[in-house]
Amino acid sequence: MKEVYGFLKRHFKGSLLRPDDAEYPDARRIWNGLAARRPGLIARCRDSSDVQAAVRAATSASVLTAVRCGGHSLAGFSSCDDGLVIDLSPMRKVQVYPEARSARFEGGCLLGSIDSATQTVGLAFPAGVVSHTGAAGLVLGGGTGWLSRLHGLSCDNVRGFKVVVADGSLVRANATENADLFWALRGGGGNFGVVTEFEVTLHPVSSVLFGRGICPGDEVLGLLRHWREFMPEAPDNLRWGFSLKTASHDENIPADLRGCPIASASALWVGDLEEGRRYVDHAFSVGNHRAVTKEVLSFGALQTLADSDFPHGRRYYTKAGYFKTLNDESIAVTLEALATNPSVANEIELAYLGGAAARVAPGETAFGSRNAPFVLNLLGNWSDSADDAANISWIRGLFVRLRPAMVPGVYVNFMSGDENDRVPEAYRERWERLRAIKTIYDPNNFFHLNQNIPPIAPATTDIPR
Ligand SMILES: Cc1cc2nc3c(=O)[nH]c(=O)nc-3n(C[C@H](O)[C@H](O)[C@H](O)COP(=O)(O)OP(=O)(O)OC[C@H]3O[C@@H](n4cnc5c(N)ncnc54)[C@H](O)[C@@H]3O)c2cc1C
Repeated sequence: MKEVYGFLKRHFKGSLLRPDDAEYPDARRIWNGLAARRPGLIARCRDSSDVQAAVRAATSASVLTAVRCGGHSLAGFSSCDDGLVIDLSPMRKVQVYPEARSARFEGGCLLGSIDSATQTVGLAFPAGVVSHTGAAGLVLGGGTGWLSRLHGLSCDNVRGFKVVVADGSLVRANATENADLFWALRGGGGNFGVVTEFEVTLHPVSSVLFGRGICPGDEVLGLLRHWREFMPEAPDNLRWGFSLKTASHDENIPADLRGCPIASASALWVGDLEEGRRYVDHAFSVGNHRAVTKEVLSFGALQTLADSDFPHGRRYYTKAGYFKTLNDESIAVTLEALATNPSVANEIELAYLGGAAARVAPGETAFGSRNAPFVLNLLGNWSDSADDAANISWIRGLFVRLRPAMVPGVYVNFMSGDENDRVPEAYRERWERLRAIKTIYDPNNFFHLNQNIPPIAPATTDIPR
């Protein structure tokens, strides 16, 4: 690491933080407290040439290297013990081109920085639902959110990338330049290099209609039966989904439901508000919902609604998968599991994707499954390390019970760090092509702190694991 530090001292414009530096304790923090690490050096890059210098220094010294944007990887891939973190957090510039309905943003942006810039001209980039999430990790893995049914995944809305590959060169990837890399970066995660700039398509979105409510546990089966039949025919403008959980004892939960199994429902309409009212009303007309609210919100307000539900530093663990159809037994299993749920913050998230995201042909991007619309995400969320084992084993146990009804496939951004064996399953028929492209751009698997796609014939250079 001394060698890397010495080189960067001479060739780097950003800041270099080592464990004894005052800023280090804050700088090393990543979102998931369960995945905390202590890197030997954090290189906070100011621009692409800093990224190039860091990649060159780390490859020539064979130093374990993590790349960080928002630090929200559930697996904790954006940090490492003792190695180097190439931290893009100072690189958060966003330029919006309203006429072209496009934007360019740097590789360290959070979703909130993009929304703030694009909303000033009434445009939006389809991305995730929590504004403190990093854009780079989210977009490179695929990117689902409120607008996915209407406008596709985040990666479907990328026009081009600038990326520093493993030999330190800065290359462009778009439909006409390095088209294979362009394909791989849309879903293939951080495997191919450090993206320093994204060029993306924006869509006009300003006000949305958003409803929320709480469905008591004994009504959930009926509600989900209705939902699973309704969604395949629903307009793309509607995003209706659920989080099954144990109700907390918060004031906003009706007193008789506190501590009980519930489905927290949300229904979003993007488009003509009068038409939307019919759909949002319909969503809350089934299942005897309580504490229902329906409001017209700015898109910016929608994008920050869930921010405080997922604070930095708590302990998180996830397992996810897809259902082609959602059967009664799977619903019953999830409800039953809530009886032994160790944390009120744990969630069983059920979304229906479909829409524009499903209409992109399977080979068009590297992103995995698009043909199984029911997305399940089991998200463990607790605060005390003493409860790690109970929460992790609850998630794992529930996943094992649900797995037989799932189809093969998983979204790489909803995976934990112990699921290496599922990465080929995530990419399936795209796997060999991804490995071939990886072999071209990163033959020694330098970028391996990610849901890893190994090169076909790893070279002999010693890359630390
Ligand atoms: C609170 C929360 C909400 C979420 N909501 C959604 C959601 O609505 N929709 C959704 O699809 N996902 C969501 N996710 C999952 C999210 O997509 C992933 O956690 C994603 O990795 C976050 O990106 P990041 O940049 O913050 O991650 P980081 O931890 O910084 O990085 C994640 C991975 O990407 C790589 N990487 C980071 N920056 C770059 C770069 N510039 N170039 C190349 N590789 C890079 C890293 O090396 C690492 O492998 C959410 C996660 C959290 C924690």
